[in-house]
Amino acid sequence: MEVLIVGSGVIGLSVAFELAQAGHKVKIVTRNYEEGASWVAGGMLAPFSEGLVGDELKLSLESLSLYPEFLEKLADVSKIHPFFDDGGILRVFISEEEREEFSDRIETYKEMGIPFSEADPKDYGISGDVHSAVLFEREGNVDSEKLMDALLFACENLRMEIAMDDVTKVKIEEGQVKEVRGFKGTYGADFYVFCPGAWTGAIFEAPVYPIKGQILKLKGVEPEKVLYSSVAYIIPKEGYFLIGATSEDAGFDTRPTAEGVNNLLSGALRVFPSLKDAEFLGVKVGFRPATPDGKPIFEAGENYALLAGHYRNGILWAPVSAKMVLDLVEKGQRSEFFEVFGRKRFGN
Ligand SMILES: Cc1cc2nc3c(=O)[nH]c(=O)nc-3n(C[C@H](O)[C@H](O)[C@H](O)COP(=O)(O)OP(=O)(O)OC[C@H]3O[C@@H](n4cnc5c(N)ncnc54)[C@H](O)[C@@H]3O)c2cc1C
Repeated sequence: MEVLIVGSGVIGLSVAFELAQAGHKVKIVTRNYEEGASWVAGGMLAPFSEGLVGDELKLSLESLSLYPEFLEKLADVSKIHPFFDDGGILRVFISEEEREEFSDRIETYKEMGIPFSEADPKDYGISGDVHSAVLFEREGNVDSEKLMDALLFACENLRMEIAMDDVTKVKIEEGQVKEVRGFKGTYGADFYVFCPGAWTGAIFEAPVYPIKGQILKLKGVEPEKVLYSSVAYIIPKEGYFLIGATSEDAGFDTRPTAEGVNNLLSGALRVFPSLKDAEFLGVKVGFRPATPDGKPIFEAGENYALLAGHYRNGILWAPVSAKMVLDLVEKGQRSEFFEVFGRKRFGN
């Protein structure tokens, strides 16, 4: 089948990779390789630390279980091994109130049999200025930049065509895409997949908007595990670490700001003072694709799928998003998540 994918973030590229591997002829149309949130993401696979429950947790558990095989296949085709640490994330609570507020989540996870253990913050070099910590053993951490590199190399090795264009119009009638038009021309295919991230609202009637995130890159003394706290997360990678992330309703403002950097650094130093001598490498800015209820938007039409609004968890949800489209195209199987996270819940 000929498939056209709009958008080259982690979602578009993961779908492209799975479909091309299954033998489909895939073409990607994207405006810009580098503007995507996917290059900026912290790369945490952290549904429990994020406190997800219900359908979002179900989606996350499915994606977490797909991750190791997804990365293995990707490394095979791309010859790049994206850094992957599946040794868990330490959820740090700054105060007793914070821990108390999270206690219903802990109860839910306990009832579901999610493995976690109480941890002594001091064992991980965390200062006395925190209340307690829990280790969520099944959470993970991937290097988003390397993941994106691997996906791009894999797409190239699978001889995929990538066209640079800004898609300006998508005409859908009675559940069918009739026309996809960009500045440079129109695009036809048997099936279409739209993954335009925070820019979805420009071509679809869907309430997706940008939430700006600033994230810092440093090198030097770092914690042995990802530390996830309400004031900052510290995320060790191979050869560097990240401190994330601000969350700002500031439109598509690409500027790093003094306040953003200051808040992240002071939050991280409060939790893990030993990083005071770390070398500062830079700041990155990206736009999370947010929706009014913070949940993704999935839609399956006759000849298309829309995958948008991955908000804070697009790296985590990439494998499951790709599998949903693969099952739809290959077997005509419509994942329950297309219903659960449908655009219709907003009246569109
Ligand atoms: C600071 C920060 C930290 C984060 N941390 C994490 C984390 O730890 N874990 C996690 O799971 N998630 C995290 N996220 C969220 C994650 O990055 C996003 O959910 C994910 O990257 C969204 O991927 P996407 O492919 O939908 O969009 P994007 O990566 O934004 O890509 C969208 C693509 O579509 C293209 N496009 C848009 N409109 C058009 C058009 N009209 N025509 C052609 N092309 C178009 C763009 O050029 C871009 O290439 C973080 C995000 C930020 C900003």
